[in-house]
Amino acid sequence: MGTKGIAIVDMDVAELIKVLNKAYSDEWLAYYQYWIGAKVVAGPMKGAVIAELIEHAADELRHADMLAERILQLGGTPVAEPKAWYEWTNCGYEAPNDPYVKTILEQNIKGEQCAILTYKELLTLTEGKDPVTYNIVLQILQDEVEHEEDLQAEMEDLNDMLSAHGRQ
Ligand code: FE
Ligand code: FE
Ligand code: MG
Repeated sequence: MGTKGIAIVDMDVAELIKVLNKAYSDEWLAYYQYWIGAKVVAGPMKGAVIAELIEHAADELRHADMLAERILQLGGTPVAEPKAWYEWTNCGYEAPNDPYVKTILEQNIKGEQCAILTYKELLTLTEGKDPVTYNIVLQILQDEVEHEEDLQAEMEDLNDMLSAHGRQ
């Protein structure tokens, strides 16, 4: 940890580490939800959906990495016990027990909408107080906004295709 780097943080660093660890737990759960979703998803247009899920899984894992690096810079320890992710998470985890493509998309859209709200709150919390964390959170938020839009576009394509098929 860098002492001056921590000294310029104009907020309670222990509290900041805590909220970053909560987001870090969310990212691992989001990563796994996408990763396993891409394996099991079934139904129409699943090829396009799998490609999107795999891409998003990689993004969530990168977000976990960004948060871990920041937690370490601040002198904290990233949550080391996977079972603790369930205790720390803001957005939870939805197992793809129903592999139908629309159900998987709905579960992940819900997750992205929770992530967007969580990172918006973190932006407000760090604004003007910790520009380094603020910048990391802003980058992640931009990705989550893109993820939601991607999944909603997949859902629209799927609904268009299904209704066109229904008319034939
Ligand atoms: Fe993420
Ligand atoms: Fe995301
Ligand atoms: Mg995408």
